[in-house]
Amino acid sequence: MAKILIAGAGYGGLTCAVELEKAGQPFTLINKHDYHYFTTLLHEPAGGRNKFEEYKVNLHDVLRKESSKLVKGVVTGLSPQENKVLTDKGELSYDYLILALGNAPEYFGIPGMAEHAMLLRSWDTARKIHEHIEHMFRMYRDDRDETRLRIIVGGAGLTGIELCGELAEWMPELMATYHVPAEKVQLINLEAAPTILPMLDEGLRKAAEEVLTKKGVQLRTGTAIVKVNENQVELKTGEVIDARTIIWTGGVRANPLIAAAGFEVDPRGRAKVNEHLQSVDFSNVFVIGDSAWFTGPDGKPLPPTGQAATQMGAVAAHNVLRIMKREPLETFTLNYMGTLASLGAEVGVGNVKGMKTKGVSAALMKEGSKLKYLWQLGGLRLVNKKRGQLSSRR
Ligand SMILES: Cc1cc2nc3c(=O)[nH]c(=O)nc-3n(C[C@H](O)[C@H](O)[C@H](O)COP(=O)(O)OP(=O)(O)OC[C@H]3O[C@@H](n4cnc5c(N)ncnc54)[C@H](O)[C@@H]3O)c2cc1C
Repeated sequence: MAKILIAGAGYGGLTCAVELEKAGQPFTLINKHDYHYFTTLLHEPAGGRNKFEEYKVNLHDVLRKESSKLVKGVVTGLSPQENKVLTDKGELSYDYLILALGNAPEYFGIPGMAEHAMLLRSWDTARKIHEHIEHMFRMYRDDRDETRLRIIVGGAGLTGIELCGELAEWMPELMATYHVPAEKVQLINLEAAPTILPMLDEGLRKAAEEVLTKKGVQLRTGTAIVKVNENQVELKTGEVIDARTIIWTGGVRANPLIAAAGFEVDPRGRAKVNEHLQSVDFSNVFVIGDSAWFTGPDGKPLPPTGQAATQMGAVAAHNVLRIMKREPLETFTLNYMGTLASLGAEVGVGNVKGMKTKGVSAALMKEGSKLKYLWQLGGLRLVNKKRGQLSSRR
C-alpha cells in the first residue's frame, strides 16, 4: 500500500488528514505537538478571553482510526530527492508527502526584531504573551517602572489588529487587579503602511479605527520601526519608545526547511505548486497552506490564510486518492469566504461573501466560523465537546 505522510497538523495538514480518514485511507501524520491549535483565534486567549485549553484540540480526538499513525515529533529536514523527511524521531519515508508546515516570521531585516520581540504564532507563544503582560503589571506594583505598562504591537494586519482589540478589552481588568491608573497604560500599534487592515475597504477600516481608538489603542500608521533593542523600539522618524512588551505581527514567510530542500520558492520562501497543488519540482509532494506559492487566476500569489490552507488540505487529500485510483486530478480554486476581524469579544468588521458587516453581527459571524470549523473537523461530537468552552468568558 502507498505510504502517505503529512507533515504539520495545522489548518491544512489536519484537514487533509480528516479527508483521508473519511476515505478510509491510512497515513502517517507528524506534528510538533499532539494537539492542533486554533491559530486564527490565538489573539483571544493572549488578550485574556477564555481559558487557553479551549483553543486546542487533541489530535486523537479528531483522528480516531487506528489504521493511521500520529507521530509527535519535529521535522528537521526534507529530502524530496529520496522521498524522505528527517525528524527528531528518525527518518520517515513516503510515496506521497503533504507538506503543511505553516510559516515562520518575516522580520523584513529589521535589526533586533528577532531577538527582542515576542510573536503570536502558536498556542505556546500566545500563552507567553498573556503571562508576560500580566507579569509586567504585577511588577509595576513593586517598582513603578512605567515602561512595564507600555505595550507595542508591530503590524496592523489581521493578527496585529485583532490582538490590539483583545488587549484593549483586557486592560481595565488588569488595571483594577493591580491598581493601575488608566492614564499610565499605553497600547500602541505601529504600522509602516499608510493604513490598517489593507485587505478591507476604506469604510470598514475607518470603522475599525474608530472602535479601537475608542478602546484606547493608539494607532500609528505610516510609522516604520527601524530597529529594536531590549525593551525599546526605534522609529524611522528618529523617535525612540521604551516598552517592556514588544510584539511583532508584521509578516510571515514559509518554513525555511522548504527553500533549504531545493524546492523552487518565491521571495517569501514558499514552494511553487501547480493547479493541483503538486510541487512543480516533485510531483509526489503536495504543498499546502502558508508553505505554498500558488498563483491565483489574477496572476497574484494567494495570501497566507487559514481558509486557503483548509481548502487546500481537502484538495490535496482528494488528489492523492485520485492519483492512486488513476483518476484525473482536482484543480484548486479558492472559494473566498471573506475576511472578518474581531475587535474584542463583541465587535468586529469584515466582509462575508461580498457583504460588508460591522459591529456585533461581525463578531457573531466570527463566533459562528469557529463552530463551522469544529464541525468540519469532527462533526457534532467535537462541536459538543468544545462548544460550551468556546462561548464562555474566563
Ligand atoms: C492571531 C492570528 C489570527 C489570524 N486570523 C486569521 C483569520 O481570521 N482568517 C484567516 O484566514 N487566517 C488567519 N490567520 C492566518 C492563519 O492562521 C494561517 O494562514 C494558517 O494557520 C495557515 O495554515 P497552515 O496549515 O499552512 O499552517 P499552521 O496552521 O500554522 O500549521 C502548521 C503546523 O505545522 C506544525 N509545525 C511547524 N513546523 C514544524 C516542524 N518543524 N515539525 C513538526 N511540525 C511542525 C505546527 O506546529 C502546526 O501544527 C491568522 C493568524 C494568526 C497568527
